[in-house]
Amino acid sequence: MPVKDYSDVALGDLISLAGRTAVITGGAAGIGKSIARRLAEAGAAVMIGDLDEGKAQSVAANLAETSVPHAGVKVDVRDHASIAALGDFAIARTGRLDIWINNAGIFPAGKALELPDDDWSRVLDINLRGTFFGGREAALRMQGQGVIVNLASTNSFNTGVSAIHYVASKHGVVGVTKSLAVELAGKGIRVLAVAPTMTTSDGVMQMRKLGPEVAEGLDNFAHSLPLGRAGVPDDVARVVLFLVSDLAAFMTGAVVLVDGGELAK
Ligand code: NAD
Repeated sequence: MPVKDYSDVALGDLISLAGRTAVITGGAAGIGKSIARRLAEAGAAVMIGDLDEGKAQSVAANLAETSVPHAGVKVDVRDHASIAALGDFAIARTGRLDIWINNAGIFPAGKALELPDDDWSRVLDINLRGTFFGGREAALRMQGQGVIVNLASTNSFNTGVSAIHYVASKHGVVGVTKSLAVELAGKGIRVLAVAPTMTTSDGVMQMRKLGPEVAEGLDNFAHSLPLGRAGVPDDVARVVLFLVSDLAAFMTGAVVLVDGGELAK
């Protein structure tokens, strides 16, 4: 593969996504919403796919650079056809697809011996199956270059929470990331993952409402991290922006921790 020399490219041009089209699943809330905002700020046209179509449209309407054709559409990442339709929508709207973020995910608790079969299937379908089919549909539509970023977790490497289905799904996301990275490298497509620790997304803020003991447990966990706090969604979004930009042109197959030092302990 020819070496592209970026050494004379100005920093602003390296981080710019002007003229590129990005798709993000689960971008109507939490970490995904922050990623959508950073991608738009860098100049990309951002297509937000989410179960909540109203919220996806409202987030898209409030993104930076309203001259760029951002959009919010309904997608259910459990449904392969729905993911394919999201890819088709991005192409129909902008004529290209450069960036795909597999962000949609759920994180219910669930101990192995008590776990209903359906809970296992639902978490694996959204977090792992959705990530694979998202990556595949993205790659089928990218023309000669592209970047796919998956949302892994520190629970891709440890168990941390009592949620065997979540832990299994996020370990699987690492496998999908590495396998796709190797298979797609020859097509000029980079595939990466970010692995956040506990991050104060909408979903986590909802969890806190389950009761004072849950909130206290989350606070204790945050304080136990080397950096002494939970992540905020934009902590993850800034790293994703770096990974999809040309600053990271020689990175593929990596899983980047955004964990306040959790896994260094
Ligand atoms: P969140 O609950 O705040 O937002 C998730 C979004 O995904 C929502 O807008 C929801 O409507 C959407 N969604 C859910 N199911 C969907 C489906 N089937 N199809 C399409 N959209 C769907 O979540 P978050 O905390 O921002 O998490 C985002 C990602 O980051 C997830 O993959 C999660 O596992 C991962 N992650 C989160 C944390 C954390 O502490 N927040 C830590 C590590 C990894």
